[in-house]
Amino acid sequence: MNLGKTRSKMQVYFDNAATTPVHESVVEIIADNLRSYYGNPSSSHYCGRDAKAQLEGSRRTIATLLGCKPSEILFTSCGTESNNAIIHHAIQTLKVTKIYTTVIEHPAIYTTLLNLKDRVSVEYIDLHEDGRVDIASLDQRLKLNKEVAFITIMHANNEMGALNDIKAVGDLVSKMENVYFHSDMVQTMGHLPIKFSEILVDFASASAHKFHGPKGVGFLFIRQPHQLTPMMTGGSQERGYRSGTENLASIVGMAHALELATKEIDSDVQYLNDLRSYMRKKLTERISDIQFLTNESDSLCTVLSVIFPDRFDKDTLLFQLDMKGIACSGGSACSSGANKASHVLAQFSIPEKCKVIRFSFSKFNNRDEIDFCVEKISELQLELAANA
Ligand code: PLP
Repeated sequence: MNLGKTRSKMQVYFDNAATTPVHESVVEIIADNLRSYYGNPSSSHYCGRDAKAQLEGSRRTIATLLGCKPSEILFTSCGTESNNAIIHHAIQTLKVTKIYTTVIEHPAIYTTLLNLKDRVSVEYIDLHEDGRVDIASLDQRLKLNKEVAFITIMHANNEMGALNDIKAVGDLVSKMENVYFHSDMVQTMGHLPIKFSEILVDFASASAHKFHGPKGVGFLFIRQPHQLTPMMTGGSQERGYRSGTENLASIVGMAHALELATKEIDSDVQYLNDLRSYMRKKLTERISDIQFLTNESDSLCTVLSVIFPDRFDKDTLLFQLDMKGIACSGGSACSSGANKASHVLAQFSIPEKCKVIRFSFSKFNNRDEIDFCVEKISELQLELAANA
């Protein structure tokens, strides 16, 4: 994998939950598309028709990979837009009066719902200790529900990796009248096998830059026969729901990225699980009192959230790791380098003086990088002890 600029000293990129490096062949496809398919997909001449064929070809590719119809894929600018759009759609079009969600959703859901508290009643679903949704408790709540309801539950949490059984939630909800189900799949799309023929969500959000595609493009899955009302009006692109000339090159890049991501997905998941286990083992061997936010079996293979003991300096740990060449994140996930406690971590009883660091991997990482990272953390531990 070409990780961009040449680096003089060893550096490791363990922040793949924030974003992933763009796959080299995706870069090539995007460049080729920009050069060769510059027509506007809405133009009726040959140049526009060629561009339109690229657009619809990408939609077909994504739909085939995900076991759904092309008409069920709507292109958006990112995961945040997909999440916002579907919440507004639920309230305006589906006339939802009750939303069930979790307190550990990404801000694109969590904050959006806080801002809408005057328009819809929001109920937070119980979680297990490791951040997964308690499905039995959700079932109980839904049995008592009399309103038109919308459930929005993330497939995997971006900060701790807690992985929800959304297939079970889909099976539950599909038997109920007037209950809709959306899942934020931004962290799992391209990382876990996903087939909408088996996972019975009504709606799902995804974002290309999390699976080695470009930034600024994503999609929303909308199961038929649901129809959205237009969020942006204008030239009626995207079946009139989202007007605006399509970001064609990025859409083509996203479809190709998803194709590459899903090609050997089962062995990739296995590889990532092994890699993450290896890091857990190495850290446990070298750093006493280190803890992990989730256990291995119920969390996403790309995420390892580590609770560092209080002898590490909580306020500067992220910076110190950066200085040693390790890109990872702490506190608030992908929200612009923030180094503060997030609304997610606040839900868990983490000792106040301890710092949580998220290491997140892609299939392009390897054991040598883990060895390097653990070595640097051990070095830091020694330096701290020497300066104590
Ligand atoms: N949802 C989750 C779970 C995420 O992790 C992120 C970004 O990290 C988003 C939504 C937002 O996606 P985007 O960066 O494409 O707006």
